[in-house]
Amino acid sequence: MPFKTLDDVSDLNGKTALVRVDFNVPVEDGRITDDTRLKVALPTIEKLIAKGAKVALLAHFDRPKGKVVPAMSLKFVAPALAALLGKPVAFADDAVGDKTEAAIKALPAGGVILLENVRFHPGEETNDPEFAAELARLADIYVNDAFSAAHRAHASTEAVARLLPAYAGESMRRELTALDKALGNPERPTLGIVGGSKVSTKLDLLKNLVGSLDALAIGGGMANTFLYAQGHDVGGSLCEKDLKETALEILREAQTKGCHIMLPLDVVVAQDFKANAPHRTQPLSAPLSADDKIFDAGPLTVEALTNVMAGSKTLIWNGPLGVFELPPFDAATVATAKFAAQQTKSGKLVAVAGGGDTVAALNHAGVADDMTFVSTAGGAFLEWMEGKVLPGVAALEQ
Ligand code: ADP
Ligand code: MG
Repeated sequence: MPFKTLDDVSDLNGKTALVRVDFNVPVEDGRITDDTRLKVALPTIEKLIAKGAKVALLAHFDRPKGKVVPAMSLKFVAPALAALLGKPVAFADDAVGDKTEAAIKALPAGGVILLENVRFHPGEETNDPEFAAELARLADIYVNDAFSAAHRAHASTEAVARLLPAYAGESMRRELTALDKALGNPERPTLGIVGGSKVSTKLDLLKNLVGSLDALAIGGGMANTFLYAQGHDVGGSLCEKDLKETALEILREAQTKGCHIMLPLDVVVAQDFKANAPHRTQPLSAPLSADDKIFDAGPLTVEALTNVMAGSKTLIWNGPLGVFELPPFDAATVATAKFAAQQTKSGKLVAVAGGGDTVAALNHAGVADDMTFVSTAGGAFLEWMEGKVLPGVAALEQ
């Protein structure tokens, strides 16, 4: 790995580690509805405590846009984290400043403090060097454990990493290792699945993948645009007709680069966008009326896809193959996910998946835990799939 990890630091007794975490947790009526992001940070915090460090946790919450917005305070997270950690977590009313510095100084070795929402300061999102220097003043080392914020060049993710000895936290390390195995240095043959609603949101991703994968299955609503571009009738399906040329360009690029593209061979068609709507399964060549909409791929498509998967060593997946929220239009996604899980469990496949709806679809299929790695990083995961340099990761690789 081109960056230092916590295994590269020995003794931190009484020294302060400034740790960027992602505590942007979902909240309803003041209660945390999913504490995954807090749990994900525990290995790093515990490792630093074990090394005798004072741990100052730095995070953003919501979008206060550089102003103090009391409703977006991170204070409510401190008790929730303390409960998970089994030890007290202090709270500082400001991410920087003399009072915060004094509060950190007052901590015992192995003590933990959460700092107020870093986005209350305008210098955070502008990646202001002076604000980064104020952050750096608080600590002896910097640890970034927030892969999900690494696509932003902000003071707490980028500039500060250049001012202190910088390390990747445990969750950052885990995520980067998994992503490298899937797309950086994968075992071949490699297979990608890209689905979801629209081509327009995933153009860069498709272009990057056709340049590097051995095979790519395109599904979901975005497949309709490709089918339309190839001259198939897609009826009233979701389809970005204005992207016809772009779709053809991607197909040509795939051919040049030797990436085998798989599109649906058969489709599940309905007229009403609702669960259990009357539907039929038909080959691509069968006619569609203007009211017919393609909501899922059919069994022949799943068979072709799983056959290729059976011969693949690596799978990278973003985007469901159909409208998985509405059964039975979840069938192709669920069957494919179950097959990927089985291959992964028997050690034949490294399967890495990510994307908000993709994670929901894998959970719906009951196989999220059986994949090699499932990224919940959203934007950062997609930018990484697009082949972009993530500023927060680049800053660790000095
Ligand atoms: P992710 O969040 O994993 O990146 P997307 O947001 O790109 O995925 O796409 C997920 C959405 O795509 C889902 O809401 C799903 O219903 C929709 N979708 C999948 N197939 C179709 C289809 N054939 N027609 C319309 N929408 C579809
Ligand atoms: Mg989505």
